Amino acid sequence: ESILEVKNVDFSYNGRRKILNNLSFDVKKGEMLSVIGKNGAGKSTISKLICGFYKPTKGDILYKGKSILKDSIKERAEKIGMVMQNPNQMISKTMIFDEVALGLRVRGVSEDEVKERVFNTLKVCGLFPFRNWPISALSFGQKKRVTIASILVLNPDIIILDEPTAGQDFNHYTEIMEFLKKINERGITIIMITHDMHLMVEYTDRAVVLCDGEKIADDEAINILTDDGIIKKANLKETSVYQ
Ligand code: ADP
Ligand code: MG
Ligand code: MG
Repeated sequence: ESILEVKNVDFSYNGRRKILNNLSFDVKKGEMLSVIGKNGAGKSTISKLICGFYKPTKGDILYKGKSILKDSIKERAEKIGMVMQNPNQMISKTMIFDEVALGLRVRGVSEDEVKERVFNTLKVCGLFPFRNWPISALSFGQKKRVTIASILVLNPDIIILDEPTAGQDFNHYTEIMEFLKKINERGITIIMITHDMHLMVEYTDRAVVLCDGEKIADDEAINILTDDGIIKKANLKETSVYQ
């Protein structure tokens, strides 16, 4: 059962060069999907179209079978949470509790409910002991988890993460990925945008491979176009392929 469908989408910034070309793929409910492709392939662009920052010039995006193209960014954010690659700088003096509570407070949720939901989310994210700490006291990996918690607290069905492990050392990488695996097992559909083959092979159920804005593969056994243009066969879950 598809929860999200990208259908025959074309896109160009300011009517210039085509960035996405008749792109179609779907995401199944409960799936951990990776969207992979080298730098400039159009990965971040498709995530911005899904969240409503830009509109496709052709095609459609459906959530549970219904087009969301007319929905505002805010309406889409109720269903689809987005963790950007470079999220807005968090104010380092802010307490973790307040940072995660922000999205609920701007939605006018009562303080009692805010407290309950933020506490639950912080527990799931392993951040509860740090709830009264300032953000500046956290490690890089913990900060990334605060960003994810801020999305998770809003109860989205789907989370899109753009390069969640970029620039992380191995310990933080594992910490973030194990955490995402856990929330996926709790029923949240995850779309992982990455150019990291290790992440794709070790953690995700399926991969969509983008090359110059077009899908070149979508299967469990896929051909991978590496940076030097060599096509390699990778069987997810069985083979490990590195760039
Ligand atoms: P990826 O995330 O796969 O690295 P992007 O989606 O960021 O790729 O970019 C795809 C293409 O679109 C690149 O050629 C990039 O230069 C171009 N691009 C990205 N953002 C903009 C923008 N705001 N205006 C014009 N071109 C852009
Ligand atoms: Mg899964
Ligand atoms: Mg990108």
